[in-house]
Amino acid sequence: MRNQFIETFTKHNIGNTCFIINDNFLIDTGGSADIVKNIKLVGIKLSGIHDIFISHTHTDHLLGLFWLLKRLTGMYRSGNYTGKLNIYCNDEVAVAIKDIYKHLYPDVYVDLINEYINIIVVNDGEELTINNQKYKFIDLKASKNKLYGFETTFDSGKTLVFLGDEILNPELYDVVKDKDYVMHEAFCLDLDKEIFKPYEKKHSTVKYVCESLNKLNIKNLILYHTEDTHPNDKDVLYKEEAKQYFDNNVIVPKDLDVIEIK
Ligand SMILES: [Zn+2]
Repeated sequence: MRNQFIETFTKHNIGNTCFIINDNFLIDTGGSADIVKNIKLVGIKLSGIHDIFISHTHTDHLLGLFWLLKRLTGMYRSGNYTGKLNIYCNDEVAVAIKDIYKHLYPDVYVDLINEYINIIVVNDGEELTINNQKYKFIDLKASKNKLYGFETTFDSGKTLVFLGDEILNPELYDVVKDKDYVMHEAFCLDLDKEIFKPYEKKHSTVKYVCESLNKLNIKNLILYHTEDTHPNDKDVLYKEEAKQYFDNNVIVPKDLDVIEIK
């Protein structure tokens, strides 16, 4: 198995809202059935997915889960998916998942999901070991639905902080200070802000993220959760803007890109 990778999933049809760590820990699920296809496209078997973290209840992070459950349940029924599916999330997300899935499938499927699903509520500051790697979950003190992120350290010793999809609350700047990789949303370029109005959705521009985090000695800033209008040259355009305001490395993953943590 490859190790120490983040694989990102496509934004088309609402999706660069999710990624997978080390081929086996899925972080958010996008908003559509594309998640099922995209996991396979990066060469990962669905039967190997046993751990999922859901950051908050918004459509573009949560709804893909129900398409995934549909597929996994079919596999479970035919013996092609065995073991538990652990879903780590805050209490608000846990309530939403339990409420929703019982309405979406025939009874036989709901009974099977009840057999293999394991919803694990995490609290602010709680540490868990998932696939031999420690994760510390963080309440991001967001202004919208309860939003959680995490920090983790890879085998190589490199640190990663995942910040969900809202502008980082300055109260949490200490959490990202001196980290190797920090994953922050950047909804659009500064010059497109009148078109996309990112601040209405608690999202930022590339310029804003870079300016506000520049003095925190983050080695690699990963900008994700972007608008959709530059599918081919997004990385070039976003990095061009970023380098005017951020001194260290900036990574802008395109659809299905793999980021090696090194
Ligand atoms: Zn989102």
